[in-house]
Amino acid sequence: MSLLADASSPGVADHLRLTDAHTAHNYAPLPVVIAAAEGAWVTDVAGNRYLDCLSAYSAVNFGHRNERILAAARAQLDRVTLTSRAFGHDQLGPFCAELAELVGKQLVLPMNTGAEAVESAIKVARKWGYQVKGVPDGLATIIVAGGNFHGRTTTIISFSDDPDARADFGPYTPGFRTVPYGDAAALADAIDEHTVAVLLEPVQGEAGVILPPPGYLGRVRELCTRGNVLFIADEIQSGLARTGRTLACEHYGVVPDMYLLGKALGGGVVPVSAVVADADVLGVLQPGQHGSTFGGNPLACAVGRAVVAMLGTGEYQHRARRLGEHLHRGLDALVGRGVTAVRCLGLWAGVDIDPILGTGREVCERLLEHGVLAKDAHGATIRLAPPLVVEPDELRWAVATLHAALAEMSRDLPQGKPAASPVQVPSQPVWPAG
Ligand SMILES: *Cc1c(COP(=O)(O)O)cnc(C)c1O
Repeated sequence: MSLLADASSPGVADHLRLTDAHTAHNYAPLPVVIAAAEGAWVTDVAGNRYLDCLSAYSAVNFGHRNERILAAARAQLDRVTLTSRAFGHDQLGPFCAELAELVGKQLVLPMNTGAEAVESAIKVARKWGYQVKGVPDGLATIIVAGGNFHGRTTTIISFSDDPDARADFGPYTPGFRTVPYGDAAALADAIDEHTVAVLLEPVQGEAGVILPPPGYLGRVRELCTRGNVLFIADEIQSGLARTGRTLACEHYGVVPDMYLLGKALGGGVVPVSAVVADADVLGVLQPGQHGSTFGGNPLACAVGRAVVAMLGTGEYQHRARRLGEHLHRGLDALVGRGVTAVRCLGLWAGVDIDPILGTGREVCERLLEHGVLAKDAHGATIRLAPPLVVEPDELRWAVATLHAALAEMSRDLPQGKPAASPVQVPSQPVWPAG
């Protein structure tokens, strides 16, 4: 039926077999083997094209191989790539100054992966708690939200409530307390004199693009201010234009004490993450107390500077808002046709699939066959986050393809009433020139 995603074609099958035999099985990827990418599109080893509606979990917000970011990386490759922080280099100061200005804070702690930014923030918050707030030694607690995703280190999975992420990795790091996401009253009850921070994703990405209830983040801000507690916003996935603003917190009119950034900060080229905060918070770190061999390296900083400069124009935020309206409208029209609920903020959507039709994974497999790459979140939800360079026609095609995929799944049901009316799978939009 479809020429796409033929996992039995020799090239694809060989690659899948080799990967399966020699790669740790900590992922269950869709059966596609990507060989090249440009903008919003990827091409597999058999030459099939797919519209990328995941963007490496928003790490490729600016599109694959964005020309401006590649140019910055190439120029830096020809100068210097790694010095360690034992010495200074000419990209570090400008990167930190430019990122701090973009975000509206004073200091930047550059790291590599998102999990490292979260770990760094936990260390900073604890030190701040002991040195500034005066919490007795060893008693600092950090409050987190149910359904959180903050990364994969042993400390971070210690406060995850996802059994897959957590089971059999103990003993767990103490010092965390979990309250339900969106429940300000529970948070108010949980804060006490030992609380040093509240760590939240303003929008919970991995949980399925869960938006905060009205007034929630404002209330979190008030409670933190009143309790002398740091508000740490993990914007690793929500930040850097995905939601239509530089930071998702802007939608809700709140300014946290610490921002955690990652993913898109590396421009889809290198891992770059950062903790961004004012000097009264991040200033607690003194020489020797924290570090990273690769954090803040010249290549990362040069790439990060290109990203910050691109965000400085507001163009990508604007694009995410405008395209997001298209996406939202298109997806809303599918509610009742195989979709039970849609949550959208900017160019970021969580789409709950009618469980009668199948799992989120099954929908993603079906989309793959038709040339759309998407990823399920938990169970019945798929998440859509195309690169912000996607064109309106391509977005329309992706939504039409989702509609067609759901209709196919409905038609394939053994019996009973179809959850979606039959539709033709639309053909792919023309490959953008250049
Ligand atoms: C992806 C993610 C992380 C972890 O980032 P890694 O680079 O995978 O370590 C942390 N927090 C949030 C909200 C994320 O989406």
